[in-house]
Amino acid sequence: MSPTITRIESVEFSYPLEDVGTDESGFNIVYDPDSTMERKLFGLRIHTDEGVTGEYVGGNSPGAAQINMFADYLIGKNPLAREKHWSEIKRALRKYDRMGMGPVDIALWDFAGKYHDAPIHELLGTYRTEFPAYASTFHGDENGGLDSPEAFADFAEECLDRGFEGFKIHGWGGSDVSRNIDREVANVHAVGERVGDEMDLMLDPACEYETFGDALTVGKACDEQDFFWYEDPFRDAGISQHAHRNLSEKLDTSILQTEHVRGLEPHADFVAGNATDFLRADPEYDGGITGAMKIARVAEGFGTDVEYHAPGPAQRHCLAATRNANYYELALVHPDARNPIPPVYASGYSDSIDAVDDEGRLRVPEGPGLGVEYDWEYIEANATGSRHVYE
Ligand SMILES: [Mg+2]
Repeated sequence: MSPTITRIESVEFSYPLEDVGTDESGFNIVYDPDSTMERKLFGLRIHTDEGVTGEYVGGNSPGAAQINMFADYLIGKNPLAREKHWSEIKRALRKYDRMGMGPVDIALWDFAGKYHDAPIHELLGTYRTEFPAYASTFHGDENGGLDSPEAFADFAEECLDRGFEGFKIHGWGGSDVSRNIDREVANVHAVGERVGDEMDLMLDPACEYETFGDALTVGKACDEQDFFWYEDPFRDAGISQHAHRNLSEKLDTSILQTEHVRGLEPHADFVAGNATDFLRADPEYDGGITGAMKIARVAEGFGTDVEYHAPGPAQRHCLAATRNANYYELALVHPDARNPIPPVYASGYSDSIDAVDDEGRLRVPEGPGLGVEYDWEYIEANATGSRHVYE
């Protein structure tokens, strides 16, 4: 008899981000010693008749709204039939971005690992159990933290001393970013000159630059400093194949796109169209571990690398099962603010800046499933009241 899904439970909770606020645009989170923000996430539990529960904590409210559209379909189904469910839900959500698939698929993988008493990376096929991380910074601020090229260079040097082999800049945002494009260029040079001989450097403007011209100007600075990649430079929001192919033809620095391109086939099309050098995948955004691993194999087939977005236990299992990937993204780090990850791990799992060893490396969790124990008492104690149960 196959196991059966009996009940799915989604609970929204909030947690505080101390010393964090937003920049003038109101969207980028930045260091702000006078501010505490609230962030909301979802705890998801997929219960089965085996007494084994698949769990995942993450996601966002648009994704949770999509789970409403397909959770009933999963009740009574075999939790191990992930490919079948992936295909059915993908079709069912074809009008939407399918962001709801990720948390559910990850929870199904957590179930599978616990059911087979194996970590997910073993079910996928282990390639490695430890990997290098890059320090991925908060956006630049105006509040005495990462507030100048010199501050970024100082922090890059601190990260080098901590053992990191890679450092990624998220520059400044706000409506005057074009007027301040000289500071973006100066930042590339300051960090490049300080640590460029010893670290791989990346720049991620997170689609802030308002013109193609600005993207080109800063990209040429990346060329001069021999950056490892240049990611999501401008305001197409990271989705134009033509624009990035055009940019790529004018630069030496490798382009990393597809963080904001949803779905397996558009990722494949981006590489086939020579519109990116590296591929991006995120198990939470891209249809779970199932979807992220499909993107990894697309990259492998095209002879390029997949760089998993953001930190988390699901990303670690994907990376542990992937040859063609360079780094784990330890985001977001800052000299004076804590990483904005939720305090939901009861098992010692950590993505804070001091989680890396003195060679800048991290390990994949080795327990069954995701290999982490979630602190459901914390999640329930901080529940917002938005709860959905499907049975
Ligand atoms: Mg990015």
